Amino acid sequence: MTIAFIGLGANLGDAPAALRTALQALAALPETQLLRTSPLYRSAPVDATGPDFYNAVAALQTRLAPLALLRALQAIEQAAGRERPYRNAPRTLDLDVLLYGDERIATPELTVPHPRMGERAFVLRPLADIAPERVSAAQLAAVAGQRIEVLN
Ligand code: ADP
Ligand code: MG
Repeated sequence: MTIAFIGLGANLGDAPAALRTALQALAALPETQLLRTSPLYRSAPVDATGPDFYNAVAALQTRLAPLALLRALQAIEQAAGRERPYRNAPRTLDLDVLLYGDERIATPELTVPHPRMGERAFVLRPLADIAPERVSAAQLAAVAGQRIEVLN
């Protein structure tokens, strides 16, 4: 069993509803338990376009291998109507593998830890809420200038 952290984001349509539905889908994954869910955040788009994003981070305990987990996340994205018209386009749902235990993975399809998580308040803040040992004060300080608010 491995503890994996998943970043959730959405900025099209009813984004909070998309995140709630996605959390239910994560909880229903085979060989997986949803351990913790961060509060919901709202953040300004970073390297992306469109309306504000809604974000959260979930902790899973899973027996799925990293690539199987990625494929399962992509299936949940597809079910939410995700299209990829261009890079960093607005999205109905984005699910990223942030951390998979302490593993370091570098393949064309999957890079873990997620290569941009250290630059993103919308990842680090909710991750720190549910796994403070995985985020340093220096990392949080580095993203303190980004516009983000916690909603609940
Ligand atoms: P992004 O999340 O960067 O905005 P996408 O969700 O469209 O973009 O993902 C693009 C590709 O990133 C996916 O096809 C996937 O194979 C790859 N990828 C690499 N590492 C990861 C990861 N840790 N989590 C999710 N996707 C990843
Ligand atoms: Mg993604």
